Amino acid sequence: MSGQQGVISIESVTKRFGAVTAVDAVSLDLRENEFFALLGPSGCGKTTLLRIVAGFETPDEGRVLLDGKDLTPLRPNRRPINLMFQSYALFPHMSVEKNVSYGLEMEGLSRAEIRKRVGEVLEMAQLEALSKRRPDQLSGGQRQRVALARALVKRPRVLLLDEPLGALDKKLREQMQLELKRLQDEVGITFVVVTHDQEEALVMADRLAVMEDGRVAQLGAPREVYEQPASRFVAGFIGVMNAFEGTLAEEGVSFGGQLLRGALPGGASPGKPALLAVRPERLELLQERPADGRNALPAKIRDIAYHGTDLNLHLTVEGKAEPVLARQPAWAAEGAGWQAGQEVWCCWQPRHSRILLD
Ligand code: ATP
Repeated sequence: MSGQQGVISIESVTKRFGAVTAVDAVSLDLRENEFFALLGPSGCGKTTLLRIVAGFETPDEGRVLLDGKDLTPLRPNRRPINLMFQSYALFPHMSVEKNVSYGLEMEGLSRAEIRKRVGEVLEMAQLEALSKRRPDQLSGGQRQRVALARALVKRPRVLLLDEPLGALDKKLREQMQLELKRLQDEVGITFVVVTHDQEEALVMADRLAVMEDGRVAQLGAPREVYEQPASRFVAGFIGVMNAFEGTLAEEGVSFGGQLLRGALPGGASPGKPALLAVRPERLELLQERPADGRNALPAKIRDIAYHGTDLNLHLTVEGKAEPVLARQPAWAAEGAGWQAGQEVWCCWQPRHSRILLD
């Protein structure tokens, strides 16, 4: 759970590498105890921003505050912030226990204190039974937990994680996403995770920032960003979106002479080019045109792809080069008995339309 209080304030931070502006006037407040995700395509500046917060890079402009104090003059090891690298950087010749206790030994804590803290963290990361092993005697997921334990044992205020699950296969990743969330909840510190995997960010984060070309394209709770993307870029980056290009009308978007209804963005004036976006899971397929206020487009089923629990139906719609994707639970779609080649009405409620002007 996240509190409302700010821990870290990133204030108008800019970082350039020669001609490349890696981070471009970014301002963000990270809250106490929240799980925050920085999300975006490769090269959008996520890692650079994380490294600035950790103190491994100095911003060209702007500053980073912790509890209201400027962190800029502090070296990385003087910040109550820990960065967990993608490679985990474990010491190969040391046992799990040694890997975890090493940082505390460097701090000169008493043996009793070290033993207590290491014991607690190994238990929390479910590593007690593995404490005498070396990293090469562990699985990828176990190594990941050791890296986490090593970062958490120092009790940082903020833990920064750069692609923490990047080295794991899909199944383990999904398991570790929940694990990471459980751990964060238990230790109650702010986690900032960098990922390019949108699903991972949606699953784990209390809030997320989508970055595009060094800037924050949208900031919000996962549901808000997914349901109400602020731009075409965000809509396309987070999940699959069907997009209908047309012109703005009084009550929606005019697409190929048909009105597709939806709430207009503030300040929009009819006649301008606009895009109406709708998620695949919001589409219903009907044999007859509905007589109520739903949007309805005549379509033809092009192909049907089985995905286990879901069916993906690709539809051809006149005036649209790309197929429209409708996702239905397998049980519902099987009951309807859809066939490739069949003509249908592709329908959705106007409240599920998202109209964008950019
Ligand atoms: P990825 O997901 O691929 O790791 P990212 O979003 O983390 O990407 P960054 O690593 O922050 O992106 O890089 C942002 C931009 O800054 C890129 O264009 C990158 O090439 C450039 N860049 C990053 N570090 C340096 C550096 N030390 N010297 C020069 N250019 C750099």
